[in-house]
Amino acid sequence: MSQINLLNIAQHESFLRIDLDRYARNVAILAGIAGQHREFMAVIKADAYGHGAIQCAHVALEHGASQLAVARVWEGVRLRRAGIQAPILVLGGINLDAVAIAIEHRLTITVGSVAVADQLIRLANEAAAPINAHLKVDTGLHRYGLMPAIASSIGAMLHEHPMIDLEGIYAHFSSADEPDQTPTMAQINAAHTILDDLGQTGCEFRYIHLTNSASLITGAAGRSNMVRAGVATFGLQPSPDVELPEGVLPVMSVHSRLTRSFILPGGEGVSYGLTYLSENDEAAGTVPIGYADGLPRSVSNRGWFVAGGQPSPIRGRVCMDQTVIGLSEGLDEDAEVLIAGDGSSGEMTLDDIARLDGTINYEIATRLSARMPRVFIKDGVPFEVDMPALSVRESL
Ligand SMILES: *Cc1c(COP(=O)(O)O)cnc(C)c1O
Repeated sequence: MSQINLLNIAQHESFLRIDLDRYARNVAILAGIAGQHREFMAVIKADAYGHGAIQCAHVALEHGASQLAVARVWEGVRLRRAGIQAPILVLGGINLDAVAIAIEHRLTITVGSVAVADQLIRLANEAAAPINAHLKVDTGLHRYGLMPAIASSIGAMLHEHPMIDLEGIYAHFSSADEPDQTPTMAQINAAHTILDDLGQTGCEFRYIHLTNSASLITGAAGRSNMVRAGVATFGLQPSPDVELPEGVLPVMSVHSRLTRSFILPGGEGVSYGLTYLSENDEAAGTVPIGYADGLPRSVSNRGWFVAGGQPSPIRGRVCMDQTVIGLSEGLDEDAEVLIAGDGSSGEMTLDDIARLDGTINYEIATRLSARMPRVFIKDGVPFEVDMPALSVRESL
């Protein structure tokens, strides 16, 4: 199928529009806030929070990021296969058998458990080239990382191995996006203590990174010389308490078109369970988007789209593939519908959806790409289409 055909298909059902010009600007602004003395690591785990990791990787590296971070080894392998050469840190836990795959693909290993440290030494004993690794310390999140009591001795042990380049040390904040900064300050102090201990054993690190999006914006960085930022680079607030810097704007918007335009007779119910009841004859439309596309079912009867330039309330339940909306006037079938975006046309933002769903924008963004094609915009025009529904598979 030619690219032009794909673009046509993508834009005639529901699709995500990924504005890489905005992503580029966001990364540049946030890297500017990090400052010249701090490197910028763009976090593009979970397929860049649903925005497309390969496309975002290239843009981030061109606009101020010097390193990338993913959560899974396979996410890193995918980036290497796409030709990306920059350092890629695998954040968080790594299963022992995956360490060798990570090394083979020159991914940077996080050492956050004694078992991974042992495995790394085993593999380093036979390694032909130095292995890059960062020490992850559990300073209070208590999710992954070495407890402070053992971090120094493990760090010193790895540091001594000639084939292990323990170039970085990091920790992750539990509450940097909340108004009370007490836990963040305690975590910074804990990290500084470990750094001092390691410094006394002669262990120096090229990269020290404690900061996520929220703490980059609020300025709680401690003794870091690198920042890790994800959510804010996509123009999404780390939490309602943390405002985005001026000029940082949402990258993702969700678009569709009516598949049906009709008059709902007065006194009739809509969608499964007939949970919406019309009073009078009402203009209504059907949109090909549902919870299988990542639109939460919880926005049934509460959320809204924008159709014909007007806010159009969701009528009845969001189904797997379809949703009905009320229209202020009859529209042509195929009329464009804006599902979500930056809110500038009155549409729901991902924050609105998250609020209605009782969750956070991170979860909405990562789920929205389940089935929908992504159309990438660069220099103001579409330049690439990615359709997960047409992905590669192999029989064995
Ligand atoms: C996801 C993640 C980040 C990025 O956090 P944001 O809030 O999206 O900036 C940073 N560090 C670690 C360890 C993570 O898991």
